[in-house]
Amino acid sequence: MKILFDGVREFSKNDFEKYKELFKQLSTSQQPHTLFIGCSDSRVVPDLITKSLPGDLFVIRNVANVVPYYRASSEYLATTSAIEYAILILNVENIVICGHSNCGGCKALFLEETELKKIPHTKKWLDLVKNAKVQAEIIVRNMGNTEDLEWLVEQENIIEQMNHLLSYPFVEERYNQGLLQIYGWYYDIGTGLVYNYNQKEKIFEKIE
Ligand SMILES: [Zn+2]
Repeated sequence: MKILFDGVREFSKNDFEKYKELFKQLSTSQQPHTLFIGCSDSRVVPDLITKSLPGDLFVIRNVANVVPYYRASSEYLATTSAIEYAILILNVENIVICGHSNCGGCKALFLEETELKKIPHTKKWLDLVKNAKVQAEIIVRNMGNTEDLEWLVEQENIIEQMNHLLSYPFVEERYNQGLLQIYGWYYDIGTGLVYNYNQKEKIFEKIE
């Protein structure tokens, strides 16, 4: 923990001072332009990879950057409520679903049943990724190259979750009116490269 306490001291002394004016402005309100939905993975740091500052991104992170289908429920819905708040209260203009390489959440889809028993909530959560696995397996079967299965699942999952977003009536409405843009990104940890999904061409293109 020492490293975190030292980090806080360093932040207060240096970083905060550097952005003092910005923090003063942000102390009473926020107006983020983008809702960023990423994986909880420790290696995916939205503000770092987009060079964003405090106030820029409203962030949701969960296992495998998942968007549950829209539904009315009396349960406590973390991801759904954050999407609702970002759109209806903060009026964000963009949503980015950001998946990544070497995703443990996507890999968990391939665990043995005995392993999955240890993580029942994760197992249930990953039901929302299953379709991506099915799609990726079809592509791999057609290509005859199983080595690509891992990143294909990760990328198909991004597309799958982009589709789930449109099950939210207020997302669909704003998207159709051109008031809201939806992006799918794939972050490759080993190279630092980010690929943007081209919805017309149906391919991920390197952002350069
Ligand atoms: Zn992940």
